Amino acid sequence: MIKRRKSRQIAVGHVLIGGDAPISIQSMTTAFTHDVDATLTQIQALAQTGCDLVRVAVPEKEDAEALPEIAQRAPIPVIADVHFDYRFALLALDSGAACVRINPGNIGSSEKIAEIVRYAKIKKIPLRIGVNAGSLEKKFIKRDGRPTATGLVESAVAHVEFLESLGFFDFKISVKSSDVLMAVEAYRELSQRVDYPLHLGITEAGTISQGTVKSAVGIGILLFEGIGDTIRVSLTADPVKEVGVGWDILKTLGLRERGVVLVSCPSCGRCAHDFIDIVNEIEQDLQKFTDPLKVAVMGCEVNGPGEARDADIGIAFGDREGLLFRKGEKIKKVSRQEAKSALLAEIKRIQQANQGD
Ligand code: SF4
Repeated sequence: MIKRRKSRQIAVGHVLIGGDAPISIQSMTTAFTHDVDATLTQIQALAQTGCDLVRVAVPEKEDAEALPEIAQRAPIPVIADVHFDYRFALLALDSGAACVRINPGNIGSSEKIAEIVRYAKIKKIPLRIGVNAGSLEKKFIKRDGRPTATGLVESAVAHVEFLESLGFFDFKISVKSSDVLMAVEAYRELSQRVDYPLHLGITEAGTISQGTVKSAVGIGILLFEGIGDTIRVSLTADPVKEVGVGWDILKTLGLRERGVVLVSCPSCGRCAHDFIDIVNEIEQDLQKFTDPLKVAVMGCEVNGPGEARDADIGIAFGDREGLLFRKGEKIKKVSRQEAKSALLAEIKRIQQANQGD
């Protein structure tokens, strides 16, 4: 059981972050924000996959002007992501967005940051202070020769102290780097220095395969140590994939439950050659189930049921047939063609029975 660090709690719309709130999952749209329909279509898809919060980029005035409609129609709280122009942050605070993310380092003067904070206080909207290795203030780069974990933390703490000096405490913080070990070190150090909720992420993590590994390692280490209150997996891919990976990280660590956990064997010389395709198809089909359930798909009848004994339901493939089993016990045999539909029907039956409990 992971013991979580004690943090303050903030509310981003109806989603609580920090304290004993569940670790929330965020993603970010990739459509132009001023294309309201495209952005809302992405947000709908993200929400259906289990995304708790969504961030949208606000690089131009027309994007800021699109925020009210997006925030009003989105099924989950919207976070406006503002760089450079503090006036867009002010517009965002007036738009119905549930949070505004700024990187104080690139907003500019302390007067501009103070103006954002003053208005956030009036509107009772939280901020995210997002410090990134890629945009760390020059004084830290000059001092250390490159971005470092210490530089990230000192930058974040200086911003925190400035916000506190303005009587503002309603914020969360991130200290991201694409260097996994630097990010881990920075979050560890920051978690010792402040009690604000922490938004975890490995920035510019890469494509689905590399980005998944980097995020799982970096975010996973921190969550395992009890650090982190909300997560965003960054992938060069459809953002829906980010949410799936985020859920898999939380489920693997036993921090949240949602939908099916798939157990499948790597296959070996005992199973038919189309097994990998079958498992991938079944994985797709399982996306629609949202209740927690452990499902096994195994490559042979000889070892499959025993190797996946703790699965709630499973199927093991033979040459011509599939063997359905529950908790390692055989239920029935079905033809290979019927195997997938028989498994899905059984899962549906279990979930309906559980809902009736
Ligand atoms: S379950 Fe069967 S097919 Fe799969 S790895 Fe084990 S022995 Fe091989």
